[in-house]
Amino acid sequence: APVGARTGIQASLLQKSLTTAPKALVPKEELVFGHVFTDHMLTIEWTAKRGWGSPLIKPYGPLVLDPSCSVFHYAFECFEGLKAYRDAQGNIRLFRPEKNMERMNSSAERLHLPQFDGKEAVECIKELLRADKRWVPEGRGYSLYLRPTLISTENTLGVHRANSALLYVIASPCGPYFPTGFKAISLYCDESNVRAWPGGVGNKKLGANYAPSVGPQVAAENKGYQQVLWTIGEDHELMEVGTMNMFVFWRNESGEQELVTPPLDGTILPGITRDSILELTRNWGEFKVSERKINMKQIACASDEGRLLEVFGAGTACVVTPVSRIHFQGKDYEIPLNPSIPSAQAGPITARIYDTLFAVQYGETTSNWSVVV
Ligand code: PMP
Repeated sequence: APVGARTGIQASLLQKSLTTAPKALVPKEELVFGHVFTDHMLTIEWTAKRGWGSPLIKPYGPLVLDPSCSVFHYAFECFEGLKAYRDAQGNIRLFRPEKNMERMNSSAERLHLPQFDGKEAVECIKELLRADKRWVPEGRGYSLYLRPTLISTENTLGVHRANSALLYVIASPCGPYFPTGFKAISLYCDESNVRAWPGGVGNKKLGANYAPSVGPQVAAENKGYQQVLWTIGEDHELMEVGTMNMFVFWRNESGEQELVTPPLDGTILPGITRDSILELTRNWGEFKVSERKINMKQIACASDEGRLLEVFGAGTACVVTPVSRIHFQGKDYEIPLNPSIPSAQAGPITARIYDTLFAVQYGETTSNWSVVV
């Protein structure tokens, strides 16, 4: 492209400067989520004048940023989370990575940060995976977590659009979310803090959405519950579970079996696991599948009447997390998990969804959702 022309991300321009000092792999049994990073990272710089520069794979290491950089002051930051899996043949696979790039572009747009061609970005991420292949652990539930991040690199205290930005991707090997089978969690319905609201940014993956969630999470833990159940409004409409989308499988007021998740009204993060579960269960065609509002009063009533069958959170980290108890206004509502197998930590629908998506992610069943690197 001519000098000064604004260009998109081009994977064909990718350059590699590989490390001369590879790190020792951490034994996979010792992995704690998000603590260990691979040998390399992918960086792509952007300026308003020239557009995106050449993608670069270089040794993992600190970024040097000016203290005035607007990312530090006004949270000009969005990110993604996806995983690379090693299949039985040793291939590395991604799960619907173009959906993560689509969501990242939607987050970037909200921050007026530069957008990019998701396909080209996925090709660059594949190159990072080829450079760091040995870091993708093998075994059931093991994976390499990828963290694409987009920040402003503009040095100014002015609150205005960024004229320079950096897209980078780092990678962290991680172990199974449930090393010893499912572990159902308890939820505390927070009545004072709201995660997102109409016209807000709850449907974007902005760093700014996450720091304010930590206080309420600690408060829930101090009360003896594992995660926050986020709700909104006087009716306490369900939103999300911690950093997962929420699903309820119940017998509804009309007596139908129904899987419900809150609709994408702008307050809910459009999870890729959520989207996959909706498509999967609609294809099963065995029960009603709805994206609609559902509130705590309905949950409490269904629980009292024995109609609440399964509740689970859904996200990349865990695929699905069963919920066994919800605290709401001074009362604990128990969810039976699996009445026919008292020791089971997940209901039958939750477990079946997990097994189906797991098999796709690890290439055990053929699906165009799984992309070989
Ligand atoms: N909700 C929130 C708030 C999240 O942070 C995440 C994790 N990205 C999800 C839901 C689940 O999204 P996904 O299935 O794409 O991981």
